[in-house]
Amino acid sequence: MATFVPATERRTKSPHLPFGDRRDAPFYGMDILSVLQFRREDLDYIFGVAREMRSMVDRIGTFDLLKGKILANLFYEPSTRTSSSFLAAMERLGGSVIPINEVTYSSVAKGESLPDTVRTLQTYADVIVLRHPEVGSAKLAAQYTTKPIINAGDGTGEHPTQALLDLFTIQEELGRVDGLTVTMLGDLKYGRTVHSLSRLLSLFDVRINYVSPEILNMPPELLAELNRQGMAQRELTTLSPVLPETDVLYVTRVQKERFDDLGQYESVKNAYVITPETLEDAKEQMIIMHPFPRVGEISMEVDDDPRAAYFRQMESGLYVRMALLAMVLGKA
Ligand code: ASP
Repeated sequence: MATFVPATERRTKSPHLPFGDRRDAPFYGMDILSVLQFRREDLDYIFGVAREMRSMVDRIGTFDLLKGKILANLFYEPSTRTSSSFLAAMERLGGSVIPINEVTYSSVAKGESLPDTVRTLQTYADVIVLRHPEVGSAKLAAQYTTKPIINAGDGTGEHPTQALLDLFTIQEELGRVDGLTVTMLGDLKYGRTVHSLSRLLSLFDVRINYVSPEILNMPPELLAELNRQGMAQRELTTLSPVLPETDVLYVTRVQKERFDDLGQYESVKNAYVITPETLEDAKEQMIIMHPFPRVGEISMEVDDDPRAAYFRQMESGLYVRMALLAMVLGKA
């Protein structure tokens, strides 16, 4: 994993300054590749902009902050929320989108390389959002373009914009992050959202419980990295011992597409299912989160529980992604 210079100390990447853009705006022209590039001050800033976006959407719906700007939304893996929330974010800000959701219909299907694809898209677009199955792909793409690259998931690596919206949700739902106990449940080996979120949480005074089948434990090198940051961590295979102390229950899907052996997937796919009965021992004030899609880990009866925050979490994704687009394009 590369070491990143904190975002506010990095030099801008974009060589040109179109009329009206602010070069001194934090994050102007920057790539968003990993949560390791953020400090707490950066998060306060991003969340402040996200709150402004939320109130603008509430008041006027769509406005012209990014009028004339173009986003290339390049997805090599399936996506519903990330892809459509980036698209909606750009359109709510008055910009436009080149959607490439099915690379099967683009020149990638003819064997085009990622560097060639992003070099092409940078000639049409001002910012590129990229989801790709290989760890490090966003970083590689960023080396081949002068336009900002936003990592929308690089294989089992990271999903930084998801972690930002997750943290924003925790902050907005519970009013704080320091002092909380977060329990992550499910596929912690392949789940990139928990990799990014645990790194982001290491900037705060939190405890994390990891509950997973042994074959889906958090990667040991990530545990060691977080340990060096002083993170209080505990690994378990059952939820019940830690549920009563949990403030945030972060549930994840077993990532079927990452398994070489589907028999192994079958053996763990239903390892945990959250039902109203499971929650009997949970705090009144806790929240349940999930990056979605869910494929049976949380039963639908839980949706009516006020602690179920996952639909509100998705909505936060719109405001956080609006904030990020405005920031990297020098308009926030
Ligand atoms: N949507 C999330 C991701 O892209 C979680 C998942 O797919 O399970 O990583």
